[in-house]
Amino acid sequence: MNSVTQVINEAHLSANSTLGKCTEIEVYGEPLNPSINYSSAYAFKTIEELGAYHENKFDSVRYTRDSSLIVRQLEHYFGLMHSDHSALMFNSGMGAISACFSALVTSKSRIVTFGSFYRKSLSIFLSYQKNFGIEYINVLGLEELENLNSKDTIVLIESPSNPFLELVDIKAVRSALPDATIILDTTFQGLLNSKSGYQGIDIVLGSCTKYIGGHNDLLAGYVVCQNKSLYSKVWDERSMRGGIIDNQSAYLLLRSLRTYDLRVNKTLDNMSHVLKFLADSSVVESIYYPGQYENAAQSGLFESEHYHGGGVVTFRVSKNVTLNQNLETLCSTKMAPSFGAVDSLVEIPMYMSHWGKSLDEVKKLGLDERTVRFSVGNEPIQYILNDLVKLLKIK
Ligand SMILES: *Cc1c(COP(=O)(O)O)cnc(C)c1O
Repeated sequence: MNSVTQVINEAHLSANSTLGKCTEIEVYGEPLNPSINYSSAYAFKTIEELGAYHENKFDSVRYTRDSSLIVRQLEHYFGLMHSDHSALMFNSGMGAISACFSALVTSKSRIVTFGSFYRKSLSIFLSYQKNFGIEYINVLGLEELENLNSKDTIVLIESPSNPFLELVDIKAVRSALPDATIILDTTFQGLLNSKSGYQGIDIVLGSCTKYIGGHNDLLAGYVVCQNKSLYSKVWDERSMRGGIIDNQSAYLLLRSLRTYDLRVNKTLDNMSHVLKFLADSSVVESIYYPGQYENAAQSGLFESEHYHGGGVVTFRVSKNVTLNQNLETLCSTKMAPSFGAVDSLVEIPMYMSHWGKSLDEVKKLGLDERTVRFSVGNEPIQYILNDLVKLLKIK
């Protein structure tokens, strides 16, 4: 019987190569883009080769839950963007955050966070607290850090924070907690947006699902560790639990990196018009943007730490705006969670991430039914401004 497998195997046996390597054509040129290889494992010819892999596992490939060629390529670029420290790619931002915490938390740990931040990160800490009795403290100001310095303290800082885009003074946290492990979630900053180069931070991480992917078509996260011992712990954690980015998403992310600068520049240009529009509106009561408006007290910190404030703005509209009805009339802007993509997105955080909570409960987080988070996309600015006019219609 004719067998397809037999034909393919014989072609590669005679060429002494593995499946998928083209045995027929001469290649003179180089492809412009990387190949996506879906192999879940890599073949070794000799035991010596396998030995060499084990001696060099962080920089080599054997099994795709640990590493793959395209993922190593991405990690190389992310490392270069972070002072050449070692990077690890994950299948989501939460995959990255949870791997770091499971790598670090012990029975003696104390987890410390600041103000309001991503709700799913909070869920991790609440579950550690509930299930394992791990100490968890959320502080509102630097003065509350007194007495918290210890090598068992793990701090998660989200800066700018969700949804009010407040900054945390990282230098001040480091000097208050010299022995703690400090983790920074940079999702709202995007890439290469730290003037201090993340000094004093042990682990820099973020979601690539937002600005970095930028097209609402992939989930990914990254972790960059300041030293090899942290890196090796997080590497082991990813290998044990799973959570590495898949090769298809890694490819998309490589593609996205090449338009990152273009997208961010367009976003910031659009944002300058959006901020002016909101500031000029008589029905916008407050505006939250890094270092400006309600956050103007942090302008010094913003100037010293960041190059730009990103593509997300939060604002509160006055009572006479028929916000819920207006949301149904928008043209190009979609109501969806997430941010940082070519599409403009809008949400009322109270209904998006805090559904079912009472007004009293969400007020503790500074939220209410009139607080809007807007993520500025890359549409022609007139599309965005037209939608904002619709969004702010009054009775
Ligand atoms: C979205 C987000 C995450 C989680 O990232 P995913 O890729 O959605 O898992 C973590 N932190 C912040 C600040 C985020 O905005």
